[in-house]
Amino acid sequence: MDFSNKVALVTGGGSGIGEQVSKDLAAGGAKVLVTDIDLSAAERVTEEIKSAGGSAVAFKYDTTSPDEAQAAVAKAVEEFGGLHLTVNNAGIGGAPARTADVEVADWERVVNINLNGVFYGMKAQIPELLKHAKESAIVNIASIHGSVAAPMSSAYTATKHAVVGLTKNAAAEYGADGLRINSVGPGYIKTPLLEKHLDEATMKALEGKHSLGRLGTSEEVSQLVLFLLSEEASFVTGSYHLVDGGYTAV
Ligand code: NAP
Repeated sequence: MDFSNKVALVTGGGSGIGEQVSKDLAAGGAKVLVTDIDLSAAERVTEEIKSAGGSAVAFKYDTTSPDEAQAAVAKAVEEFGGLHLTVNNAGIGGAPARTADVEVADWERVVNINLNGVFYGMKAQIPELLKHAKESAIVNIASIHGSVAAPMSSAYTATKHAVVGLTKNAAAEYGADGLRINSVGPGYIKTPLLEKHLDEATMKALEGKHSLGRLGTSEEVSQLVLFLLSEEASFVTGSYHLVDGGYTAV
């Protein structure tokens, strides 16, 4: 897929899926603003992109801040002269608990990052993308838990369902302009997010819930994200695309 002459912005680009998407977009010729709450992580990714011959700039962006969402768009325009492709990827799991035992502060933190962050991101990005809507696209990273439950993770499930709905709504509103907006629902993917929070036994149990009998990789998610961002997906908008090794088929 060819992304030359495109400028991309990825949130949570310093690790896992966002890191891989940033690298793959750059390998396809895009100029990438790699953003993350952790600037040093974003800087590591941009250095690796540049070493591989790509073009990237790191930027600190906490997606819970509407002001930082605007600043990230402004930075992409300042550095690269515009913005075409955005991937609202940053997300967290939250502390495991049954619904009535979820701490209100934890609920609010997950909602703020996983849902409000995607809204603040699109609110800042869409006016810039509308300047050349037909060459632009947004992908929001949801989860399989945008369609099925994740027991002990109510806030995660609620926010990922909400991202699927928010994506459909925005796509319906901006389709007439030619702007395409989709969401992606990965199954369990081997990234630092999982590795930090789950022990080996839990990982093994999760493998068995996927028809393919294994967890996915960031590369496998990135391939779908890139397709949706590419001009090859010119008639694809408003939809929720699973890359889940068969998790939700059973
Ligand atoms: P990851 O490896 O933890 O990477 C996420 C990155 O986002 C980290 O660098 C993280 O920084 C950063 N981040 C966290 N909060 C942020 C904020 N408020 N603003 C900006 N950046 C922030 O996670 P991942 O597994 O790649 O997950 C990426 C997305 O995919 C998430 O939306 C997740 O829900 C979704 N997803 C993941 C899986 C999976 O199994 N891995 C499955 C389905 C969906 P810190 O490390 O400093 O927190």
